[in-house]
Amino acid sequence: MERDFFLYNTLSRKREKFETITPGMAGIYVCGPTVYGDAHLGHARPAITYDILVRLLRHLGYKVRYVRNITDVGHLENDADEGEDKIAKKARLEQLEPMEIVQHYTIRYHEAMKLLNTLPPNIEPRASGHIPEQISLVSKILESGFAYISNGSVYFDVETYNKKHPYGILSGRTLENVISNSRELDGSDDKKSPFDFALWKKATPEHIMRWDSPWSNGFPGWHLECSAMSAKYLGESFDIHGGGMDLLFPHHECELAQNTAARGDGGVRYWMHNNMITINGQKMGKSLGNFITLEELFTGSHQILEKAYSPMAIRFFIMQAHYRSTLDFSNEALTAAEKGYKKMVQAAKDVASLNASQGALSAEIADIKRGVYDALCDDLNTSVALAHLFEAVRVVNLAKDNQLKLTTEDKETLQFLFSEIMEGVLGIVDEQSGSGSSVILNEVVGMILEMRKEAKAEKNFAKSDAIRQRLTEIGITIKDTKEGTEWSL
Ligand code: ZN
Repeated sequence: MERDFFLYNTLSRKREKFETITPGMAGIYVCGPTVYGDAHLGHARPAITYDILVRLLRHLGYKVRYVRNITDVGHLENDADEGEDKIAKKARLEQLEPMEIVQHYTIRYHEAMKLLNTLPPNIEPRASGHIPEQISLVSKILESGFAYISNGSVYFDVETYNKKHPYGILSGRTLENVISNSRELDGSDDKKSPFDFALWKKATPEHIMRWDSPWSNGFPGWHLECSAMSAKYLGESFDIHGGGMDLLFPHHECELAQNTAARGDGGVRYWMHNNMITINGQKMGKSLGNFITLEELFTGSHQILEKAYSPMAIRFFIMQAHYRSTLDFSNEALTAAEKGYKKMVQAAKDVASLNASQGALSAEIADIKRGVYDALCDDLNTSVALAHLFEAVRVVNLAKDNQLKLTTEDKETLQFLFSEIMEGVLGIVDEQSGSGSSVILNEVVGMILEMRKEAKAEKNFAKSDAIRQRLTEIGITIKDTKEGTEWSL
C-alpha cells in the first residue's frame, strides 16, 4: 500500500500500524443488528463508521471482504441467559412467526442503511442459517475442557478458562471484578458460577426458535454466532472485528474466550469499537422517552425533534466526531451538521465551473490534500478530515468570487477531493441530485424556478409570488440567496 494506515486496537489499547494477515486483503467482521425492531439512531453510528473504514481501505488499495451478521436467533432479554426471547416475545405480541418479524425488520434495516448511503456488506450471514457451525464450535470447546453440560445446556467454564488464559483482557476486566458485578445465582440456575455463559441452552416448552443438538433441543448462546460465522467466512484468524462499545463486554470478551478455548488464540488482529451516541447528554433508552428511530429522524415525527433531518445530515453529523469519542445528539448539532453538509456539496458542485489557468499544484491545495489523508489514515479521524475539506470549500468560494486564482492542477485536485474523498470515502452525496425520480424532480423544480426568475426580471411580482406560494403548498420550500435560489422538500 502506498500509505500506512493506523488503527487503534482495543486489545492492545494502542494505535497500531495496520498490517493484514494476507497482504493486500482485509477481512472485516462487524456485529450486525438483532432484528426485532426498527433501526434507530444507535444503529447509524456503527453502520457509518465501518462503512467509512471499508471505503477507505478500498480507496487505499485493499481488497476488502466485509461481513456483517444478522442476529435472528432470538436471544434472551437481558443479553444473558435468562428472561424471554426478544424475537419470540415480539412474535407473540404481534401474532406472527418469528421469521416474519426477522424478515420485516431486516428489510427495514436495509432500507434505512441504504438511505444513509452505507455500502452493503459482502456477506451478511444469519445466525439461524449457521446452527451446525455453532454446534460444532460448542463441541470443540467441550473437547478442550472449557465447558460443561448441565441439564441439557452447555456453559462456558470461565473459572477453568481463566486458569490458563486471562479472562477479561479485551475489556480490561479481571475475573475478580467480573465476579463482584455478577448477580447471585438463583436456585433454578444450571450454571456452576454466575459469570459462566451459555453456549447452548435447552429450550423450555414455550420457546419457539429451537434446533436439535447432541445435548438437547434448544438454541445457541448469543456470543457463539459471531465466533462461528467470522471463522467460516474470514478464517480462524482475521484482521478487524468491529462493533459498538456496548458490545465490548460481555459479547466480544466472550467471543474472544470462545475462540481461544476452541483454537488456542483469540483470532482477531484488531478489535475496533465505536463510542455511543447520547441524546441531549443522556443515554438513549425507551424508558427515557428519547429513543429515536431512523424513520422518525427522517420524517421529524418524534416529540424531541424540531424538524425532519435528512439521511445525509445525519451521516455528516456522525462523522463530525471521531468514532471513539462520544457524540451528543441535539437539534442544534443536527441543524449545524445540515448546514455544513449543504455548504460542502454546493462547493463540490461549483468547482467544475471555476476558471483555472495552466499551472502546477499550489502549496495550499497540496496541504489540504495531505491533511485529509493524514487524518483519515490516523485511526479514521473523520472530524479532522472534514475540517481540511472545509478548507477546500473556502478555496472554492474564494475562487468563485475571483479572490483567488486556481491552476489547472489545483482545480483537478479539488475535484479529486470532492469526488474521491468526500463522496467516495466519506460517502457524502448530494441528496438533491440522486438518481431516477429525484433527478427528474430536480429538473422540474429547476425549470419552475427559472420561470419565477423571468417573472421577477419582468417585474411581474404577482406571478413570482404565486409560483412561490404554489410550490410551498405542495411541500417545496424555496429560499433566495446571493448565489441563486435554493429549494428543499
Ligand atoms: Zn457479534
